[in-house]
Amino acid sequence: MEESETIVILGAGIIGLDVALVLSERGYGRYVTVKAEYLPGDSAGTYTSPWAGCNFSAISGSNPNELKWDRLGYAHLTKLASERPDEAFVQRTPSTEMWDEEVPYSKIEAMSEYLEDFHVLPESQLPKGVKHAVSFTTVTINAPKHMEYLYRRLRDQYGVRFVRQRVSSLQDAFANPATRVAFNCTGNASRSLPGVEDHKCYPTRGQVVLCRAPRVTSNIMRHGRDYETYVIPRPGSNGNVILGGYMQRRNSDCATYSYETKSILDRTRELSSEVCQEEVEILAAFAGLRPSRDGGARIERENISVAGETRIVVHNYGAGGTGFQAGYGMAWEAVRSVEDVLRQLKNLHPRPRM
Ligand SMILES: Cc1cc2nc3c(=O)[nH]c(=O)nc-3n(C[C@H](O)[C@H](O)[C@H](O)COP(=O)(O)OP(=O)(O)OC[C@H]3O[C@@H](n4cnc5c(N)ncnc54)[C@H](O)[C@@H]3O)c2cc1C
Repeated sequence: MEESETIVILGAGIIGLDVALVLSERGYGRYVTVKAEYLPGDSAGTYTSPWAGCNFSAISGSNPNELKWDRLGYAHLTKLASERPDEAFVQRTPSTEMWDEEVPYSKIEAMSEYLEDFHVLPESQLPKGVKHAVSFTTVTINAPKHMEYLYRRLRDQYGVRFVRQRVSSLQDAFANPATRVAFNCTGNASRSLPGVEDHKCYPTRGQVVLCRAPRVTSNIMRHGRDYETYVIPRPGSNGNVILGGYMQRRNSDCATYSYETKSILDRTRELSSEVCQEEVEILAAFAGLRPSRDGGARIERENISVAGETRIVVHNYGAGGTGFQAGYGMAWEAVRSVEDVLRQLKNLHPRPRM
């Protein structure tokens, strides 16, 4: 009990799970407890991860950090798609992405270095109104099932503990005096959680439609000035597809609307010849809140005072619309920031000799 709370991760969305995974892969799983109000398998308006589309795409920003996190994330997800696609619910999928506006050249160049089968489409092949388009092999992810896979793997293979608990402040992460470091992976809650209260955080609402359309096998996205339309086949779901979507900044409404569902169906039929030719059966509409942040995600080590003592926190939140594609890279960076603390742990709790 004491040993397993040496490292506490607040939050069991994809960001917290990826931190637990990176720690576990480096041999620290037995020191980790994940504490969260919602755990994989749950659904709630304030728990974003189960609602994700979900794929790897070019929607992330183009600063060096975001490019680096994406690259690490792509390597991680394609490895899973090669080694255990069915178990992890991750699959390689052909993808086309189109933009109505200019895309920073540095971003396209960075992507072209590592995305499999990457091509820039010639101008002659672009639909009306599209300025740029690329094709590549992406990874599609069944978000809720992938989270349950991570949960089982972390618990059964690496000995990570999961505790359902709502904390009332960041300082609560240190309720056990044995806790040496806490990772704050609370997503949208970082705006209001006492001890964090980061007013740069805001939600970006998205409605999506879950459909059964087994003949849709390609990922396709069109990024417009004021719209976002996409089709994402869902691995391991017997032919389900996510149709989207919306990017509504500073909107925290978790309700779904039939006029938005209609707009999504109209737009995706126009975008994808596969959807257009398919008898699409609507199964459900969902709305989720991406944890966005002015200036991008925050990955930062900080000393805080708890009952008069200095404690180490690593913040890792604000992933916006890229938590699944960038989460592993973000986790890698968050864990690297406490390398010095981690090195001491194995001396602190040596394994008993057999
Ligand atoms: C419609 C939609 C489509 C998307 N599509 C994609 C996509 O295609 N690709 C992609 O990469 N990303 C996509 N995203 C974005 C992705 O879902 C998010 O970036 C990601 O889920 C954020 O994860 P998180 O762990 O930060 O937050 P969350 O999943 O919200 O997890 C937060 C965790 O913190 C816990 N918590 C919060 N407050 C407390 C407290 N006080 N005490 C204890 N626990 C607490 C919660 O219970 C939860 O466990 C999409 C999102 C939406 C909404």
